[in-house]
Amino acid sequence: TLPLISIIGRPNVGKSTLFNRLIGKRRAITDPTPGVTRDPIPETWLLGNNRVTLVDSGGVKLDQEGLDGPVTEKSLSLLSQSDVIIFVMDCMEVTPEDQMLLKELRPYTDKVVLAVNKIDDVTREDLIWNYYNYGYQRVVGISAAHGLGIEELEDTLLGLL
Ligand code: GDP
Ligand code: MG
Repeated sequence: TLPLISIIGRPNVGKSTLFNRLIGKRRAITDPTPGVTRDPIPETWLLGNNRVTLVDSGGVKLDQEGLDGPVTEKSLSLLSQSDVIIFVMDCMEVTPEDQMLLKELRPYTDKVVLAVNKIDDVTREDLIWNYYNYGYQRVVGISAAHGLGIEELEDTLLGLL
């Protein structure tokens, strides 16, 4: 089976936009309803010379609250099954949901790449530095919408395969 790379993050950080940017086509449906729980969408993706499976965890909530057991189990097993986790955060705001995900991701720190999204222009570049406080060795500033930082992200992902 192919290496599994999953895109994790709270609603609205830009996971689906990133997924589409990486895959290069409109496949993941950007979710009109934040937090809607649905199945992850896997897609085979060529990363450098490596075929991998990329999953947009869109809408998968990783907290225990307000969820039935199976969904939580499924989303948590996605974390443990992933070879690489792209954890997406928004450069403009960190919420309690982000904090919760940071906690859930703690056991998997070594396979996480923190992608700080919405770094759309140079005026936002300095915002990245705050995100080094979360303890991840790999932090990349990106703009999924504008296609910035994507090459650096891909190189960083390759380093974890
Ligand atoms: P998801 O819920 O994490 O899958 O987030 P989406 O991909 O659906 O994006 C949520 C919102 O953020 C949408 O309005 C996107 O257009 C916007 N967005 C995504 N990436 C960027 C980015 O790089 N810059 C800016 N400014 N907005 C973005
Ligand atoms: Mg989405």
